[in-house]
Amino acid sequence: MHKVVIIGSGCAGNTAAIYTARAGLEPIVVKGHEVGGQLSLTTEVENFPGFPEGINGPDLIENMKKQAERFGALYRDGELVEADLSKRPFRLNLAGEWVETRTLIVASGAKARWLDLPSEQKLIGHGVSSCATCDGFFYREKKIMVVGGGDSAMEEANFLTRFGREVALVHRRDAFRASKIMLERARNNPKIKFFNNTVVEDVYDASQHLVTGVKLRNVLTNDIWERNVDGFFVAIGHIPNTAPFAGQIDLDPDGYIVSHGGARTSVTGVFHAGDVQDRTYRQAITASGAGCMAAIEAERFLEAEGH
Ligand SMILES: Cc1cc2nc3c(=O)[nH]c(=O)nc-3n(C[C@H](O)[C@H](O)[C@H](O)COP(=O)(O)OP(=O)(O)OC[C@H]3O[C@@H](n4cnc5c(N)ncnc54)[C@H](O)[C@@H]3O)c2cc1C
Repeated sequence: MHKVVIIGSGCAGNTAAIYTARAGLEPIVVKGHEVGGQLSLTTEVENFPGFPEGINGPDLIENMKKQAERFGALYRDGELVEADLSKRPFRLNLAGEWVETRTLIVASGAKARWLDLPSEQKLIGHGVSSCATCDGFFYREKKIMVVGGGDSAMEEANFLTRFGREVALVHRRDAFRASKIMLERARNNPKIKFFNNTVVEDVYDASQHLVTGVKLRNVLTNDIWERNVDGFFVAIGHIPNTAPFAGQIDLDPDGYIVSHGGARTSVTGVFHAGDVQDRTYRQAITASGAGCMAAIEAERFLEAEGH
């Protein structure tokens, strides 16, 4: 019987582990399929406080893990495939082995949707990004491309005009999902150039480990052409990692955990932390802050229950 099990080893899970471990709760952290979470995919992180020169994403994550282990957190491989949260203690199926826990912190994150282009994954952190707030700064006076047709694509394109010399916005259709106001703001921005009815066929150049350009195709005419770009931002949404919780805790229509105040979910004793609940900020520091909140709530809950 564990006191705390944390699902996910990203910023939220690691921070929850530091706090619950220091509180003597001997948390178990289930690492999941993406060990270290989204930051392990990136290179330079310049906006996490405390690192004036910036820090490599995987190093930041490793530091958090070591910090949690120093206080007794136990990391284990595998992932949660099934959960029974209908009564306490909760029962968790960690890829074959069932474990029991008095509290659960869900820090399973959300994965960005990608275009599945041949070179896209190889160039993440080297010019391909899913986060303008994180990476826009690296593209001062550079040529930027944003792909997407929803509000987040418009928001990212507008934001990126603060940095880039130009922002090309590529959308596969003529009609946009984005709200009228967001679309108008982008249309009125002189730095944004729209490419409608257009899809990206590939992003170059994996052999140089650097984005240098893209191959585009007009879906109406089938014309194919290339365009030089330095920064390539994919803004076609995120998928929260909540499949094992469907039908057990309140999720919104897109699958994000619905917060019931603080870090509480609809199930007493189950707490949320990070991008799995947050569709707005999606930053390392906000995920870490949320991990801290979940840990403090779990700690107080256990104390109130006499554990
Ligand atoms: C390329 C890239 C660059 C970024 N750069 C920055 C930046 O410079 N600055 C910044 O502040 N933010 C940046 N971000 C955003 C930041 O990485 C996220 O906001 C942050 O990682 C969210 O942390 P999290 O712990 O909530 O989730 P995640 O980091 O997504 O971690 C989720 C964890 O849950 C695990 N998991 C999922 N499902 C299961 C399961 N069923 N069982 C067990 N475990 C599971 C995964 O394996 C993973 O370990 C970047 C994101 C990306 C993709």
